[in-house]
Amino acid sequence: MTHLLQEKKGLIIGVANERSIAWGIARELSNQGAEIALNYQNEGLAKRVIPLGESINSKIIMQADATDTDSLDKLFAQINETWGQLDFLVHAIAFSDKSELTGKFINTSQENFLLSLNVSCYSFIDLARRSVPLMKKGGSIMTLTYMGANRVTPNYNVMGVAKAALESTVRYLANDLGPLNIRVNAISPGPMKTLAGAAIGSARKTYRHTEANAPLGMNPTQEHVGGTAVYLVSDYGASTTGEVIRVDGGFHVLGMPQLNFL
Ligand code: NAP
Repeated sequence: MTHLLQEKKGLIIGVANERSIAWGIARELSNQGAEIALNYQNEGLAKRVIPLGESINSKIIMQADATDTDSLDKLFAQINETWGQLDFLVHAIAFSDKSELTGKFINTSQENFLLSLNVSCYSFIDLARRSVPLMKKGGSIMTLTYMGANRVTPNYNVMGVAKAALESTVRYLANDLGPLNIRVNAISPGPMKTLAGAAIGSARKTYRHTEANAPLGMNPTQEHVGGTAVYLVSDYGASTTGEVIRVDGGFHVLGMPQLNFL
């Protein structure tokens, strides 16, 4: 059987555990023949991430924090030594102080604003810049965003602003890197039950509301998001760049809840 991603090699940043969106993407890309490098943010996560990486035969599984230049230098040096090339990069991280993911947005502190934008948006620019020299034959770069970038979503607060900056970053990077045949896109899933998802205030209510109201009557699974990543990495995605692809059961098209929900 031929696989869509045979011979493709890529880095996925953001696996925390088996529920992580990054892990769903890693599994689907691996199922299609891709070789994958993974990071874990700190030693505490190593015991979860290393066995996951081993189960898909990852040759590179290293500690790296997106805000720590030294750890990223080591990770990219290892990728260069092992593979000497990169075909794709998946950025699936975000962070904000949980205490500001509830209540009023107007109370956002400067400290947490800078932290949230740094981890959730600037890190994407940094990782893209590090990846480009290794994408000698072109490549596919992607990140994960959420509808809260464009529409007010309860308690999403400063993460909405960070995701809006991230989506704009996708467009600017797509324009910079297009001449190098490097595509840059975002996947925007509906709510999913992950560690980061649970940090948003009233996450369960949001999850139930989108599931009940989305035209398809469901929130996305890891397989749905992973399958979208397969398309973006594969040659079928060769003309797609600067795009935000929604994987949310169609929830984003609604102007109001379904009548039976009112
Ligand atoms: P997750 O499993 O908690 O993954 C988030 C990852 O970001 C974790 O591995 C986390 O590590 C990592 N991270 C945070 N700060 C970091 C740093 N400084 N350096 C390196 N890694 C760091 O949650 P997820 O839901 O899969 O999130 C993945 C992406 O999908 C995020 O961008 C999120 O905003 C986006 N997204 C999620 C949903 C949803 O409903 N879950 C919907 C749309 C988009 P730690 O655990 O150590 O902090």
